[in-house]
Amino acid sequence: MLKLLTSEISAIIYALIFWVFLTLITGLWSIALALTMTGYVVWLYYRIYRLNQWLDNGTKTSQVYDDQGIFNQIIRHIYQQKKVYNKRKKRTKEILRRLNTNISALPDATVLLNDQMEIEWSNKPAHYLLGINARLDLGMHIGNLIRHPKFLRYLMAPENNQHLEIDSPVDRQTTIQIKIVEFGKNQRLLTARNITDQKQIQEGLKSFIANASHELKTPLTVISGYLEMLQFDEQLGKHQQTSVKAALQQSERMKNLIEDLLLLSQVESYQLQPSEGETQPICELTANSLGALGKSCNDSLLDCSCDDTLALNGVRAEIEGILINLVDNAFKYSPEDSPVTIRWTLNDREELIFECIDQGRGIAEKDLEKITDRYYRSPDVRGEQIKGSGLGLAIVKQASAKHGARLEIHSEPGEGSSFTITFPSYRTIHLQSSSDNVVPIKSA
Ligand code: ADP
Repeated sequence: MLKLLTSEISAIIYALIFWVFLTLITGLWSIALALTMTGYVVWLYYRIYRLNQWLDNGTKTSQVYDDQGIFNQIIRHIYQQKKVYNKRKKRTKEILRRLNTNISALPDATVLLNDQMEIEWSNKPAHYLLGINARLDLGMHIGNLIRHPKFLRYLMAPENNQHLEIDSPVDRQTTIQIKIVEFGKNQRLLTARNITDQKQIQEGLKSFIANASHELKTPLTVISGYLEMLQFDEQLGKHQQTSVKAALQQSERMKNLIEDLLLLSQVESYQLQPSEGETQPICELTANSLGALGKSCNDSLLDCSCDDTLALNGVRAEIEGILINLVDNAFKYSPEDSPVTIRWTLNDREELIFECIDQGRGIAEKDLEKITDRYYRSPDVRGEQIKGSGLGLAIVKQASAKHGARLEIHSEPGEGSSFTITFPSYRTIHLQSSSDNVVPIKSA
C-alpha cells in the first residue's frame, strides 16, 4: 500500500518541481500552476482512457500493459483473475468436449429434451435408430418425429412407465426400447436401445416352450390315463399302489404346468382388438372357473357376487384363466378356514371390475412388483414348499393386458391381498334378460 502511495506521491512531487521550475522561468506562478495542473489531469485522463480501452477489448492477457501505482495494481488484479478464468474455461471446455465425444460414441440413441419435449441435442445413433437429425431437428417436438401412438401416450406420463418397446420409426423390423428420465433442471433425457436380437431370442424361446409343451401334452395325457387305470388295479400290492399314486400326482403337476405354459403362450400370441371376442356372461364364467377348482359359490368360505345381466366380450379360456389363478392363489396362500371374496361390479364409467380378496398371508412390498413376472415365486413360498409354477399371475397379467384391462394388486403382509381387474367399457355387454344364455351362479 505504502509502495503504491509512494508512486502516486512522487508523481505529485514531480509536478510540484515542474511548477516551481516553470514559475522561475516565466515569473508567473499562477499560469505555471494552471499549466502544471492541466498536464497532471491530462496524464491522469490518459491512464484512465488506456485502462478503459483495455477493459473494452475484453481484458485480453496478450494486450496487458504496465502502468504506475494504483493503476498498475488494478491492471494486475484484473490480469490475474482473467488468467484464472481462462484456465477454468479451458478445463470446462475440455470436459464438455470429452463428454460430447463419449455420449456421441454411446451405442444407444440419446436425446436431450426440454420441458416442452423439444429436442435440444441428440447423438449419432439417434439418427439411425429414431431418424432424428442432430442439426435440422433441433427445437422440434419429439412427438412430431416419433408418431407411434404408444410413444405419444408414453410421452404424457413417462414417469409412470419404466420403459417402452416399439418399432423403430426408421425401420419397422427393428424393435427399440425407449426410456425417458428427468435430467437436470426442467430437462429430460431420452435413451433408445436396439433390442431386436433380444426380442428374437425371446420369441424363439417362447415358441420353443409353446411347441415343447404342445408335444408333451399328448404323451402325458396317455401316461396319466394308464396311471389312473392302474391305481384301481386290485392285483397291485400296497407298495406298488403308493408308487402309482405318487406317479399320478407328479403327472398331474406336469399336466398343470404344461396347461399353464400353453395358456401363457396363447395369451401372449397376439393383441386382441377391441371388437374381438365372444359374449361371456360373467356369472357363467365365475361358475365354470370355480367348478374347475372343485369349488362353488355355495362354499361357506366363499363370498361371491355377480350380476347375471352382464357379460364380457372376450376369450373364454383366457378370462377363466384369470379367475382360476386368482381364486386358486387366494385359497392357497390363506389359512384353511380363511374366507375369500370374489365379486363383479360395474362402475359409473361402464367398466366391469373383478375383485378377488383374501385375508391370507399377504405379499411383502419387495415382492409386489415381481410377482407377475413369469416363474417368480416369493422366497417364503418356496421355502414352505407350497406347490406352484410361478406362472399363474403372469397369465393373469398377460390375459388382462390382452383384453385391455388394468390389474391392480394391494396387499399387507399378514393381513391379506386384493387383486382388482378393471375391464375397459368397450368389453361390457348388457344382456337383455337373465335368461339370455346365462347359467345362474348358484347352480354351478
Ligand atoms: P404360484 O402360485 O404358482 O407360485 P403365481 O404366479 O400365481 O405362482 O404367484 C406368484 C407369487 O405371488 C406366489 O408364489 C406368491 O408368493 C405370490 N402370491 C400370489 N397370490 C397371492 C396371494 N393371494 N396371497 C399371497 N401371495 C400371493
